[in-house]
Amino acid sequence: MLIPIGLIIAFVLIAIFARRGMRSCRWRMDRTRDRDGLQFFRCAACGAEALVPAGKTPQDCRDPRKTGKGRDAP
Ligand SMILES: [Zn+2]
Repeated sequence: MLIPIGLIIAFVLIAIFARRGMRSCRWRMDRTRDRDGLQFFRCAACGAEALVPAGKTPQDCRDPRKTGKGRDAP
């Protein structure tokens, strides 16, 4: 009885977290770090950094903790 309910709850939680991962990114432009015609953006939510062509904004979350690259690691 409880197993199907647990699976449904787990699925809903995964859906919520997956969606939040994309939406929580708040990209802030940092003109002082622009480079080679690319605009520098930093995510205020997760600390991810991205260089994108002028006039565009990063669409996906590049959280270092998710990608495993750890660019912000000390
Ligand atoms: Zn982010």
